Amino acid sequence: MKTQNGILNMVSEPGTIKENALRITGQAEPPPSHEFWGRGNEATMTKTLMCLALASLLPVTACFGQSYYPVTRPGTERWVYAGCVNWQGGPTTCSGASIFTTAYLEGNGHTTAYHTFPIPSSWIREAYVEPRVFYKRLDNVTINGSQPIIIKAGQRGCMLSTGPVNNCNETTTSAFDIRQAIGNPEFISNCVGSTCANLDLGVVGYTPIYWVEEKPEYIHVGFTRQHVNSNSYNHWMQPTAAYGIWNATKDYISRHPEQGRMALNDMALPFGGLFDIAGLWRPSHWNHQYGTAVDVRARSANHPPLGEYSLPDDPALHDQFLDDCTNRGAIIAQRENTGKENQHIHCEWPNYN
Ligand SMILES: [Zn+2]
Repeated sequence: MKTQNGILNMVSEPGTIKENALRITGQAEPPPSHEFWGRGNEATMTKTLMCLALASLLPVTACFGQSYYPVTRPGTERWVYAGCVNWQGGPTTCSGASIFTTAYLEGNGHTTAYHTFPIPSSWIREAYVEPRVFYKRLDNVTINGSQPIIIKAGQRGCMLSTGPVNNCNETTTSAFDIRQAIGNPEFISNCVGSTCANLDLGVVGYTPIYWVEEKPEYIHVGFTRQHVNSNSYNHWMQPTAAYGIWNATKDYISRHPEQGRMALNDMALPFGGLFDIAGLWRPSHWNHQYGTAVDVRARSANHPPLGEYSLPDDPALHDQFLDDCTNRGAIIAQRENTGKENQHIHCEWPNYN
């Protein structure tokens, strides 16, 4: 199984693959290499099995790739095992490992052109090592065979509500803005020098958030270049909110059949998290992180055209629809950007995450 450049793609001697803890990547012939053993991660195991089958054909780095599964809620802890093996595939001791998480580019509707530095969610620490605090990265780790690593989701990020975006770096520890760390698929690396073993961690996100399809009562509007130019990425909601807005539009249209349909703008991105409408990785849509809110087109007559299926620019009608949202369980219902070009009605339901 050894390739010409000395990189061993996989090791398959009996006993090297533990039950429910599969080897992820390859090994170098000496010095020892680092690796990961996933545990309890179905997608990783499936991917690993594919890698095992294809190992003789693929470079080791082909054995992982962007994955949205599993979806892990913020605050969840899970374990992986950082491993060190000799060229024969047996456990050995090695030092100087760096272990850290990275978010993939272009996840959760964040196009690369506008989102060049997604923030990974998870903090990590070595199990059984004092003090038991989580870090953004671990350096100079000594691994004796395998070292359990505890990953805590949704603990990483930094506060960007006021400062420049590049304040968000490895040394920022004082505060974080959780919205930036949600929805980005991420992986964990175990590296010595530039040689790394990587393991997909799926995505840290809110569940359940579902795709909200168009209904006879409403259409989708509001796609932007910043989020894939598609209304498929900005219309995701929790069930309570989704039924709430559907029922509210039914109620309104039943009294105002001349409205025909309504136009629903941004809800949330597929896994929630920061819905940065300007594409700057900075908070903007403050209340569109959980899949509980929707903006309904109600443009101002000062800025024609109103747009397809906009509510008329009539405060009395707006008030009626605000009441419809409230009567269908909304906890926030308000007109926003009044008189401006993007005047709209924001209805928001309770968060069950
Ligand atoms: Zn809104």
